[in-house]
Amino acid sequence: MIITLDGPSGTGKSTLTKEIAKALGFSLLNTGMLYRALTYYLFTNNILPNSEELEKIIDSTKIDIIFVNNEQRVIINGDDYTKYINDVIVQKNVSLYSVIPCFREKVTNVFRESVNNNNIVVEGRDIGTVVFPNAEYKFYVVCDIEIRAKRRLTDLMNENQVITLEDVKKSLQLRDKIDSSREVSPLKCPENAVIIDTSHSTIKQSLAEILSYIK
Ligand code: C5P
Repeated sequence: MIITLDGPSGTGKSTLTKEIAKALGFSLLNTGMLYRALTYYLFTNNILPNSEELEKIIDSTKIDIIFVNNEQRVIINGDDYTKYINDVIVQKNVSLYSVIPCFREKVTNVFRESVNNNNIVVEGRDIGTVVFPNAEYKFYVVCDIEIRAKRRLTDLMNENQVITLEDVKKSLQLRDKIDSSREVSPLKCPENAVIIDTSHSTIKQSLAEILSYIK
């Protein structure tokens, strides 16, 4: 069985995905981690979104998603890029790479290969619409922008990153705009998805709401 959670950043998707997987004994897949890791890899190797070599490099890049002590890790050409996923380079550039069709095609293939008939919860932006449109259960997670910015700021401060609330908010809004207005696989609520608003709910309450739909 496949359960999908789509929605903007900072809505609580990742935490909910982990909790659903734990509650049901399912595997999980966080697709944003791969978008982020591959962005860092390309940018730091000077392969910018407008680079002529982009398609060729992406084609020859080996990507593995592995789990170590139940934690997802992204391995690119043999090196672990997981530690870079919240880097400022990623925050600024991930949406710019995510609009590129050959980039999306590569990561979508990796996701489909990773699933292999497992019972799995998958989170992202286009999971219920494009990657797994036939998933049994689809959820679209939303949250007030002020609350999202505060949550993301707390995460970043825990990682010792120096950034203001206003900058976090602006960066989330910009990312939302690019993600939902892009031509290829824009962020939108999948057909038949249940909308979960986490603005005024605890994780426990949102989890209970989601589990109440799953038979
Ligand atoms: O979910 P997360 O915030 O980690 O995703 C980072 C970025 O990766 C998103 O802003 C979006 O540009 C891209 N992404 C995507 N499709 C997905 C998952 C992430 O375009 N399925």
